[in-house]
Amino acid sequence: MKLYEKTASELSEMLRNKECSAVEICNDVIERIHETEDKVGAYVTVCEESAKENAAAVDKALADGENLHPLAGIPIGIKDNISTKGIKTTCSSRMLENYVPPFNATVMEKVNNAKMTVLGKMNMDEFAMGSSTETSYMHLTRNPHNTECVPGGSSGGSAAAIASGEAVLTLGSDTGGSIRQPAALCGAVGMKPTYGSVSRYGLVAFASSLDQIGPLGKSVKDVAMLQSVICGHDRRDATSKFMEYPDYAAGLESNLKGLKIGVPKEYFGEGIDAEVKDSVMKAIKEMESNGAEIKEISLPSTQYAINTYYIIASAEASSNLARFDGVKYGYRAKDYDGLVDMYEKTRSEGFGDEVKRRIMLGTFVLSSGYFDAYYKKAKRVQNRISAEFADAFKECDIIATPTVPSSAFKIGENIGDPIKMYYNDVCTVTVNIAGLPAISLPCGRDSKNMPMGLQLIGSKFSEQQLLNAAFGYEQICGGFDVLSKSL
Ligand code: GLN
Repeated sequence: MKLYEKTASELSEMLRNKECSAVEICNDVIERIHETEDKVGAYVTVCEESAKENAAAVDKALADGENLHPLAGIPIGIKDNISTKGIKTTCSSRMLENYVPPFNATVMEKVNNAKMTVLGKMNMDEFAMGSSTETSYMHLTRNPHNTECVPGGSSGGSAAAIASGEAVLTLGSDTGGSIRQPAALCGAVGMKPTYGSVSRYGLVAFASSLDQIGPLGKSVKDVAMLQSVICGHDRRDATSKFMEYPDYAAGLESNLKGLKIGVPKEYFGEGIDAEVKDSVMKAIKEMESNGAEIKEISLPSTQYAINTYYIIASAEASSNLARFDGVKYGYRAKDYDGLVDMYEKTRSEGFGDEVKRRIMLGTFVLSSGYFDAYYKKAKRVQNRISAEFADAFKECDIIATPTVPSSAFKIGENIGDPIKMYYNDVCTVTVNIAGLPAISLPCGRDSKNMPMGLQLIGSKFSEQQLLNAAFGYEQICGGFDVLSKSL
């Protein structure tokens, strides 16, 4: 077995037992990138030199007997909307094509303090708007399990790299499903943490009240380990929660006995593929035969979730993206006639179609004549969705649903139909609307041999219980088969 095929926790053990070095791990994964990147396109930037330097420094520190973090020397890829000092952070947009941030995001400081080996920056939908990574200005990312299919999005590069073995761990961001949906379509594990548990300082904002950075990996333990690195209070993010954060990996246990799992009927209705429904129900039944109690529940406002999400997210995006004006940073149009013309041309040329669509929609729902009818109403529905979840968590510990209505679709199949694309998020957006944590786990393959995802949702700040439930399911499966065999 090659080193890139192993999980982070296995590699961490091997490093401690001197069965391999950090340089060997780094070189093996970089070799894998050289081997498969042409077919997958997961990266926007690969940082070979600095990755190798970090790996060598980790080996030296270990030889000197230093007490390092368990993830020291483990290769990680970072979504390209997370600020990395001295490394281009493009958001896969022409607007930031050559932007090199002068500072690190808080999560990057944490990753660097743990001495993880940063491999580079992952491709994504432009400014994290999309569900297929096809809105990237850079290039396509392909699903490692079938390169004719999309990897999902917006963290498509982060998920594809896990399935192709081009990274051992990655960071994504999730505003409406962007970690969980690509994780599901690529057969990886991905978690969207509770809003406020991971600092957003240095995450290029899409919809600030919904955005959250989170981990992707090959196993629940790997995701738990990385979550422990990145979580925690940060005074530079006013929405960051001050509390004790547990060591999730140390607390991991697979006790499903007595766990009350709610199954909301609204997530199994029309629009969800029969194969997805069957595999998710089978997973839930397996958890039941291992001691969990299953309860049918109802979350009636789910039917309004997509509309609510696209109003709130676009409203915030239109405001957040106002900063890209050709003055402060990023792209500036070449020929213009005065300031207003410079703004107009810069933004017309610098943003792609999907980003413009969101800015227009967001500006419309915030405009004085329509604010009450759209934005205010959406905020009211948001309260209802949150309240329904809060009620549900009085009766159950965890909620189980599909992550995505279908397996990965073909490249080009949905990009011309935004509404169809938006409906791919129907099972994930509610979690962001309510600020909850949720994880996507692989739950088998469909008849085309493509991965499908089981989503487990927890109450706020219940990551440990959520990860334990996920770990329980992983044990039933005897581990997940994440890596593509067809590359
Ligand atoms: N696909 C959703 C959108 O396009 C979610 C994106 C995200 O979570 N960043 O808005």
